[in-house]
Amino acid sequence: MGGCIALIVAAGRGLRFGGDIPKQYRVLGGRPVVAHAMAAFAGHAQVQSVRAVIHPDDAERYRGAAGNLALLPPVPGGASRQESVRLGLESLVSLNPDRVLIHDAARPYPGPALIGRVIDALDDSPGALPVLPITDTVKRGADGVVTGTVPRDGLWRAQTPQGFRFADILAAHRAAAAEDLTDDAAVAERSGLAVRLVAGDDDNLKVTTEDDLRRAGRRDEADETRTGYGYDVHRFCSGDHVMLCGIAVPHDAALAGHSDADVGLHAITDAVLGAIGAGDIGQHFPPSDDRWKGAESHVFLAHAAGLARDRGGVLVNIDVTLICERPRIGPHREAMVRRIADIAGIEAGRVNVKGTTTERLGFTGRREGIAAQAVATVRMPSRPS
Ligand code: MG
Repeated sequence: MGGCIALIVAAGRGLRFGGDIPKQYRVLGGRPVVAHAMAAFAGHAQVQSVRAVIHPDDAERYRGAAGNLALLPPVPGGASRQESVRLGLESLVSLNPDRVLIHDAARPYPGPALIGRVIDALDDSPGALPVLPITDTVKRGADGVVTGTVPRDGLWRAQTPQGFRFADILAAHRAAAAEDLTDDAAVAERSGLAVRLVAGDDDNLKVTTEDDLRRAGRRDEADETRTGYGYDVHRFCSGDHVMLCGIAVPHDAALAGHSDADVGLHAITDAVLGAIGAGDIGQHFPPSDDRWKGAESHVFLAHAAGLARDRGGVLVNIDVTLICERPRIGPHREAMVRRIADIAGIEAGRVNVKGTTTERLGFTGRREGIAAQAVATVRMPSRPS
């Protein structure tokens, strides 16, 4: 396939962290730590695919973290980080990428510029390592006493993602399989591969301790909350059911429209697009385009939710009101909530569905059609990233 694949190393048990949940699955800013990095790579224009290497015990946690991000299926890791990376690389052989980025799941904020720098450095080097200078004075000590000062010239702090040409790093990992090295640059060095230093990013912090998680959380709190509004109407035509919020509701009429005319999902889709400043449903899915004729509207909402995630957004909540005399909404409310949550990739507790009438007034009161209003809230990075 060529191109670049991001391999997210998430198989660790996070024993240094304490507690029952491995650190990469702890919640940060409304979603698991690992979900942040997976979204960052999945949304990067120069990254074609993303695969996570996970611990087999974490399959369910992983599914929750992956949501509906477009990712390759995860593969199980090994007993050590190095073995997990090698198994991940072996799993990519059939896909034959040109380049691979290897990233630690515990770093939730690999920014798009950093990812781009690492990939671009592989144009003329088999390896690329993002690094930061050491600004603190470095001491050597033993038994609680300083024994020397280490010159920090030429010393760097290594980050991930570390980038490599795929064939080179695969061969290097196979050759180093019996050893226990701390990062992939060390594996590359051992095989004599040149690894270019590229500028790292202070925001690309590693979540190792509870303090780190709190610090990362504060950064996340600096995000801003956006609200979007959606409104839609579809008229009744002959038929025996209506699609409302992804549920087929029996009725003595159907809703007319280019797609399945799901007025609820259309309003929600517009609300999500509105919150992230991405226009409206008609721009993304023009009624003039035959591809969307008869389309099931979950496609529209899933697309909008994906756009929000691509921009670093976290869908906080969705509230929709369906306005009609009939059919009655109440009996279907729970199923609608679950379906919307499933499509948008969020928990059901973040979705609300209401039904109301207009006291037989107006077009909805005359049972000529159904209207829907929706509000969506999205938390987004307040800094341009
Ligand atoms: Mg519509």
